[in-house]
Amino acid sequence: MAEAERETLETGVLIVGAGPAGLSCALRLVQLIRGHPAPPLQTDSIYVLEKASEVGAHCLSGAVLDPRALRELIPDFEAQGAPLDSPVTSDRVFYFTSSGAWKLPLNPPFLRNHGNYVVSLNKLAKWLAQRVEGAGVNIFAGFSGMEVLFEGSRVTGVGTEDKGLDKNGKPMSNFQPGTNLRAKVTVLAEGPRGSLAKQLISRLGLDCDREPQVYALGIKELWEIPAGRIAAGEVIHTAGWPLASSQFGGGFIYALSETKLSIGLVSGLDYGDPRFDPHSAFQQWKTHPWLRRLLEGGQMLRYGAKTIPEGGYFSVPATATDGALLIGDSAGFLNSQRLKGIHLAMKTGMLAAETIFEALCAGDTSARSLGKFEGCWRASWVKNELWKVRNFHQGFEHGFWAGAIHGALQYVTGGRGWRARYPARAGHERMKQLSETYTAPPEQPKTDGRLAFDKLTDVYHSGTHHEEDQPCHLKIADFDICNHRCTAEYGNPCQYFCPAAVYEMEEVPGGAGKRLKINASNCVHCKTCDIADPYQIITWVPPEGGGGPQYDGL
Ligand code: SF4
Repeated sequence: MAEAERETLETGVLIVGAGPAGLSCALRLVQLIRGHPAPPLQTDSIYVLEKASEVGAHCLSGAVLDPRALRELIPDFEAQGAPLDSPVTSDRVFYFTSSGAWKLPLNPPFLRNHGNYVVSLNKLAKWLAQRVEGAGVNIFAGFSGMEVLFEGSRVTGVGTEDKGLDKNGKPMSNFQPGTNLRAKVTVLAEGPRGSLAKQLISRLGLDCDREPQVYALGIKELWEIPAGRIAAGEVIHTAGWPLASSQFGGGFIYALSETKLSIGLVSGLDYGDPRFDPHSAFQQWKTHPWLRRLLEGGQMLRYGAKTIPEGGYFSVPATATDGALLIGDSAGFLNSQRLKGIHLAMKTGMLAAETIFEALCAGDTSARSLGKFEGCWRASWVKNELWKVRNFHQGFEHGFWAGAIHGALQYVTGGRGWRARYPARAGHERMKQLSETYTAPPEQPKTDGRLAFDKLTDVYHSGTHHEEDQPCHLKIADFDICNHRCTAEYGNPCQYFCPAAVYEMEEVPGGAGKRLKINASNCVHCKTCDIADPYQIITWVPPEGGGGPQYDGL
């Protein structure tokens, strides 16, 4: 479309993403504005863009919340009715074999959750958004940021998507051109593998001297079960089966109440077998006798999936540049050992707000001024927490047992382990070709519609909806690679790693082999394909704003 058709709006601070990081940034800015006699901006010149149709609908986490950042942001959060389903009442850790469950006699210190809360992240985001909107901040739900706007190397804002384009990119009768939102400061808080953050990091080389980011995929379901099997606030983690000992990951069971459970399996996206299917592994995990007893007679209510940045301290890119900051999961602020990131997302959002406010007061939003954010988070408990686990995920390079030994060594050496900085490799580089994979294909669990579900049933329970007639938001750089080279070399792993049955190899009429079919409307926006594709030829871009999952209680 012609650039001239696009409206341009000028604002003070533009935050992309209404998750815990973006909303905490907005709320901290509000507090600073209110506490200043002559603030450099007003609350209505803070814009928050959110691609979901309503705030929280694309937020998903386990989740056990460490309330440290929330307490700093809203000291009386309990009195103000923060949606905390239950304080954690007990912790247990099990090691699973296919039929056995061994409880660890002592919980590792990092999996002790006394003082934390079992929560639903999308409820928490909605609650934060009410406070932000109530203070006069503009939240634009249902709008996606498509491109970072630059003047030279300075970020000047974000261009939103055109609405009402058909499959071929042609305007339809309901066509609405996107808007160029220009801001003094742009904050990217899109969550893991943000599409704008990816553009920015790549264009400016913000990760040039860092370790590559590595990810895991978390797949979860919300269940209702009969009373009397678990107490509200129980937190249970599992290691072992059904994941191979070469893989990183484990299961979780968090009791929101006596009858409502968040359950899920986290699988590292740095596995070797190209036929590994994280969704199948999750379904298989639920058939373990221990879980079967817990879930039987219950009902699956909701489903969702999201990637998790696991790389830690050495994978965090430069977080500030001229006119822009990166916060939360978009920058990789997550403690993979504690399985927690919400508190780090919130804290980095708050520190970013303080840096921005100071920069606006000084009338200088250059990299030199916004770069103070680097010093702020490194001087805060964010650095202390990440530093202690700086080599954690990388210690699992050679599998679970080696990782456990490295983890113990790192624990006693304050995070160091056997060397100062463990090297990392991007997960997709560790995927093996079929010719190097000597095992039989992983066992597929039988789906029974009661305990184990197929991908389409789960997608239905994610509430996912996209406008069908729109350009495909999964951009494949070269279909020839998919249909020929990848088929021969990797067996098209996208059909396995996608937890929403988006990628399918369909027969070409006339018996001319198979070709890739993309069922884009199933996409739950987890970003796995953008991360795990061995050729790195899949680019996830936001679909028309408002499309995607409709998470509720997840
Ligand atoms: Fe996730 Fe990609 Fe599948 Fe969408 S298409 S659900 S982003 S793996």
